Formats: sequence, structure tokens, C-alpha cells
Amino acid sequence: MHATQAPEPPTADITHPSQLPAVDKILLHPSLQPLREAYGLDACTRAVRDVLGSLRQQLLGGEEAPAAGLQADPASIVQAAGLRLQRIFAPRLRTVFNLTGTVLHTNLGRALLPQAAVDAVVQAMTSPANLEYDLEDGGRGDRDDLVEALICELTGAEAATIVNNNAAAVLLVLSTLAAAGERREVVVSRGELVEIGGAFRIPDVMTRAGARLVEVGTTNRTHERDYSEAVTDCTAALMKVHCSNYAITGFTKAVSDAQVARIAHDKGLPLIVDLGSGTLIDLREWGLPYEVTVRETIESGADLVTFSGDKLLGGPQAGIIVGKKALIARIKKNPLKRALRVGKITLAALEPTLRLYLHPEKLAEQLTTLRLFTRPQADMQAQALQLQPVLQQALGPAFVVEPAPMTSQIGSGALPVESLPSFGLRIHPASGRQAGRQLAQLEARLRALPRPVIARLRDDALWLDLRCLEAAMQHAFSEQLSLLGK
Ligand SMILES: *Cc1c(COP(=O)(O)O)cnc(C)c1O
Repeated sequence: MHATQAPEPPTADITHPSQLPAVDKILLHPSLQPLREAYGLDACTRAVRDVLGSLRQQLLGGEEAPAAGLQADPASIVQAAGLRLQRIFAPRLRTVFNLTGTVLHTNLGRALLPQAAVDAVVQAMTSPANLEYDLEDGGRGDRDDLVEALICELTGAEAATIVNNNAAAVLLVLSTLAAAGERREVVVSRGELVEIGGAFRIPDVMTRAGARLVEVGTTNRTHERDYSEAVTDCTAALMKVHCSNYAITGFTKAVSDAQVARIAHDKGLPLIVDLGSGTLIDLREWGLPYEVTVRETIESGADLVTFSGDKLLGGPQAGIIVGKKALIARIKKNPLKRALRVGKITLAALEPTLRLYLHPEKLAEQLTTLRLFTRPQADMQAQALQLQPVLQQALGPAFVVEPAPMTSQIGSGALPVESLPSFGLRIHPASGRQAGRQLAQLEARLRALPRPVIARLRDDALWLDLRCLEAAMQHAFSEQLSLLGK
């Protein structure tokens, strides 16, 4: 077919849309055939039409049109269509290097799953599974049963249920306890009315859930009597929210979970605690700062506790609700539960992640996030010394690359004021002229690499924290640095 085509006319400059080649002719052009093989006829046709359309626009643009006419021969059009197809078909969700120093980085996808969870997810995605099927009696099962016993074992709670994320958990809890009838007031300390980021504000969620917020205390101080005086016949629950992403310091007074639980129970009301991050272990045993555990919160008397699956827990995105059996049963009956429930992929990832906690001796090795939190500073320092000459060579004399101590953050609101001693590379321009612009450009070049490198701009330098660059990834990282020079 191609052999019979007339030889192409010499590339002629086109000045009017009527001179543009026909779509069909371009689709038969030999240089288009590899694109057709790669992307299919439909996508190629659309891409060619789009290119012709924009050429037409340019030609009709009157004075804007290039005086010399347009390169609009079939080969040029195919080339433009090829670029367009490449762009359309390129994956948008990309793997990056997180060198920000924030381990649980919400914008970079939070927790990295442990291998056991990855394997289970692949299985669940490619094979049928007993998601809601009771293998004992062949009847219908409840998907929460897959993880509920494990969660109860690890937290000391009576019952548990899983939803899409912790925001959904808070919504569902409030909508179950506080949205019906006369009793819709939920008492919260003013110091805990937090905005988590991404427009998740506790007061807004409460309103959406149908609850009426009753604020007590002041931003920095809340007393026991503030809680007890706020309780009326319309009170549905007392609530505590973990101050995830900030700390109030100085002249402060907060009432402990146990004290609020006692006030709630004296009045026959439940205490809800939104823990946010929610850890299952005492992090001090791994040399990390203290964070209240889910078990301790239950032991303090909380009747329902909500926390995330992909923060300190180190698993998939999920919201975990634990607490009293009767309350969890009511939550499960709420029609919203159906709308907020998790899929099999989440449960497949969650179960083996939780099981790792049964073997704490191996946890820091097997749970990826804990392994990253506990990496010794000397590890990152050794990496920094190895990578410094590679990066310095790639960047040339315009920048100075130095190994430097720095501090990583746990992230996702966990332990906002605590930080982990780390090590990495600090880059600053050799000349002070337009240093800010040079750094911003370098930051953008790192982001434009095949596997983008996300670093942190701070104090007139670009900081590459190596905590999240584990040994297995170091080679891939240094390999692509040579592309920086290009
Ligand atoms: C993170 C957080 C949330 C939201 O959790 P998601 O899992 O992101 O939905 C809610 N409350 C607190 C206190 C948090 O820290």
C-alpha cells in the first residue's frame, strides 16, 4: 500500500487551511505506522485531528500566523501527533524519591507498605477471595471479620470496623452517635478544633455529620468543669481530638482522656477520641518519642477511638474505629457505613500489616515505616559521603554539595514538634548572585528527572534528606544524577 503512494512533494509552506493534508492521508503515512502499532487507530486518529485542528487555528489566526506559513507536511504532522500521544499515554502517577525528610508525607502517599502487604494485595487483585464469605458455613460473611479479631488483640478493644480513611471514621462515628433525635451536641475543647490540612476541619466534619458542636475552654486552657458544665439533655457525646499537627505550649491546661472519660460516664455518655495517627506500639521502645497508643486510649476509658491506617500504623489508607461492642454494632448498621467501607485491596494490605505487630522483635525490620523512622543517623551519613562526589560532579562548579546533618519529621501530623536526627546533602549556589532563583531552578531540575527527586528548599539551600533513600534504591538514585548535567 505504501509503495503505491506518490512521492511526497517537497515540504511546502502552507498558508491556508485548504492546503492541509487530509486525515486519511496522514493515517496512511509510513511514519505513522509505529504509532498505530503502539497506541491503536482510534487514538492516532484523534491525535492527528487535534494537530490538524490547531494548525487550522493558527492559519486562521490572521496576522498572528507565521508569515512564512506552517510546516504542515504529513511527516511533521505525524511527529506532532506522536508527541501528543506520548504525553497522553504517559503514566500520571509516578514513582518519586522522597528526600523531603518527612517520612509520612501526605502529598507523597504516606506509608510505604511492607512486603507482606504488597504480596497480599497482588493476590487479592488477581484471585477471588473470601471478602464477605464465611468459609466455615458457606454463608455470607462480614468483611470487617477479616481484621477485627487482630485489631482487638492489638488494642484491647471489644470490637472494630474499617472505613475509607480516618476522616470517614470521624464522620461515621458522629453521624451514628450524634445525628439522631434530640441528642446531637458533641462537647469538644476549643484547643482541639484542628484543621488537618486538605480542608479537613473537625468542626466542618461534625456539622456534616449532623452533630452540633459545643466548644468548651479556651485555645490554651480547658478544665474539667468546662466539660461537666457543658453537658445538657441534648449532649450526645464528649469528644477529644489529638492535636496532630501543632502543639500549644506555654500557659496550657488540658484535661486527660481518663478525666474526660470519667465525666462522660458519670453522665451516661460516651467518650469519642480521634487519635489521628494512632500508634499500636510504645514508640519509646524503638528509641522514638512518646505518642499515646490506641491501647492506652482504650484503657483510659474511651468508648470509641478513630485512627488512620496509613500514618504511624504503616499500612494502607484506611480509617479504623475501635471501641465498645454495642457502639460498633450501631456504627455498622448506619447506612453511611456502606458508602464509606473499604475494598478488598485495602483489607488485603491491612491484615498482614497488622499481623507484623504480633512479632515486635521483627517489627523494625519488616514494617517499612518503622524501619525508616529507626534508621541510624550513621547510615544516612555514610550514604551522604558516598553520594556527595556523584552529585557534585553532576552539578558542576555552579553549586556546592556538602554532607550535612539535618532532621527528619515523622509527618502526617504525628509528633509535630519531635524530629529525628538524620543526614543528607545540602546544596547551595557557588555564587550568591540570584541564589534564590538558582536554587528554585535546581529544585525544578530534580523534579524533572525520570524518577523525580523531591527535596526541601530552606534557609537558602536545597536539602536532600537521605532517610527515605534505603540502600536498595541508592544505585537507581545515583544512576540518574548524570542526567542532571544535560
Ligand atoms: C490525619 C488526621 C485525620 C484525618 O485522617 P485521614 O486518614 O487523613 O482521613 C483526622 N483527625 C486527626 C486528628 C488526624 O491527625
